[in-house]
Amino acid sequence: MVTFAYSFPYTQLDLERFFQRIMLKKMSSLLKIDKIKVAETLSGFPIFVYKMAVKKHVNKKSVMSTQSLAEGAQQRQGAPSVVFLARQHPGESQGSYVAEGIVEWLLEGELEGWKKAFEFYVVPMVNIDGVYYGNYRTNLSGNDLNRIWRQPRKDYHSEIYMLKKYFFALNKTHPISLIVDIHGHSNSLNSFFYGNPPRKEAENPRLFPYYCSRKVKQISFAQSTFVVSEDKKACARVVLSEMFPKALVYTFENSFYGWRRGKTIV
Ligand SMILES: [Zn+2]
Repeated sequence: MVTFAYSFPYTQLDLERFFQRIMLKKMSSLLKIDKIKVAETLSGFPIFVYKMAVKKHVNKKSVMSTQSLAEGAQQRQGAPSVVFLARQHPGESQGSYVAEGIVEWLLEGELEGWKKAFEFYVVPMVNIDGVYYGNYRTNLSGNDLNRIWRQPRKDYHSEIYMLKKYFFALNKTHPISLIVDIHGHSNSLNSFFYGNPPRKEAENPRLFPYYCSRKVKQISFAQSTFVVSEDKKACARVVLSEMFPKALVYTFENSFYGWRRGKTIV
């Protein structure tokens, strides 16, 4: 039998192995990782948030602990939070590779002041059922999770129903300042952002994509847009920006097949 894949596969086991692997590395990171269960899929898979925040003793080795939701909510108050989501659409496996890159960058990279100023919450696999059962776009109830954020139902869309509750609680202790929902794009080159139109409560939404495009050559600011079309009114980007008016909220699209360098497609 010959099996073809539309993109590089990335399962929930790959995700577990990734986090095991990064914790085995001796990181001189500023950040500590806590694994917090925040939701369950319809088939019973736990959905974890990986919280990354400055260690109390920054010279100690990175450690990962498992917390309950209640314990997680009792963390120190005040530091604003940054949230990353990936794999609402299970077929968009490049989202997981981007999420891996973000986690590695947070643990290893630069911008120490930025890392000390925020706490980071990564939900690397929202639609685990879809990944496990091989759906391209939907969860186990057959729904596109990125179209039901306005009124998710606990019995059909438990993933989003519970994540919304978690983010609502998180925002009270750690005001959410940035949310990036990572996706894959099937017919555009490069990586780019969909943002919301400017609003007076928040920073100019064009600045963050512009900054990212200056730092990462695969990201195109020119392809980024800042509008809300009728069919996107119930997606995470729009609903979360209404829940948290001071936050910048983006869909981060990443091409399925390449990026343009001059006249060459890489
Ligand atoms: Zn998508």
